[in-house]
Amino acid sequence: MMGFASYHNHSVWSDGGDTLEAMLAACAAAGLDEAGLSDHYGFYPGPPQDWSMRRDRLPDYLATLGSLRGSYGPLQVRVGLEVDYFPETFEETREALSGVEADYLIGSVHFVGDFPVDAASSWWEALSRERIDEVWRTYFALIRAMAATRFFDFVGHLDLPKKYGYRPDADMSGEIMATLDALSAAGMAMEINTAGRHLPAGEVYPDPWILAEARRREVPILINADAHRAAHVTRSFDIAAGLAHAAGYTHLARYRRRERTAVPLP
Ligand SMILES: [Zn+2]
Ligand SMILES: [Zn+2]
Repeated sequence: MMGFASYHNHSVWSDGGDTLEAMLAACAAAGLDEAGLSDHYGFYPGPPQDWSMRRDRLPDYLATLGSLRGSYGPLQVRVGLEVDYFPETFEETREALSGVEADYLIGSVHFVGDFPVDAASSWWEALSRERIDEVWRTYFALIRAMAATRFFDFVGHLDLPKKYGYRPDADMSGEIMATLDALSAAGMAMEINTAGRHLPAGEVYPDPWILAEARRREVPILINADAHRAAHVTRSFDIAAGLAHAAGYTHLARYRRRERTAVPLP
């Protein structure tokens, strides 16, 4: 796995199953150059979510993860967070995170209003066809609003609503291309997130055609696993690299203290 980094990973600090140390040790053992953790953090307009770290634990998380820099031989350790975007609480989020010593912030949308996009397929099963289309449409509008804040470094799992296989009836290509335009205008990157391959969606996020359209707009990409277990930190990276090459990508983005650089795509 030389030439790869793995930035979207969760530990027991949020909803992962392994410690920070175990996740990083797995990244080092896989031969990665760089790795980071990105435990969940967010201001939920509704009740607090138990899969996200308690907000008062943030300083401790950042300090603990930061203290592991240099502990895994040549592996460069990066400090990240996966941050929920909600229009209602964005200002609080920005305030809480201004000045934190993070290397990157992943911006993710997991809720459309109070509908949890990726919580369980039963939520989707209960929706009408019209409502499914509406969730997809609103989801991408939220991603565009998030990009417009220019606060986050890259988008997590761009087409997350496909997670349980509930594809829209309506044609979403216009919504999706407008979303890629918004990412490009904001200078925001996105990830190929391989977790989707191992879920009912059956393929990485995003779809290959979206990746090709992103490439046309020069939206930088990363390859990430969204691992919640140490065994998964580089899962399906070979497949993701093949898709990135097929879309015309030649480089992958890296981050250090919120500054983006590019390295050749292995
Ligand atoms: Zn996520
Ligand atoms: Zn995640």
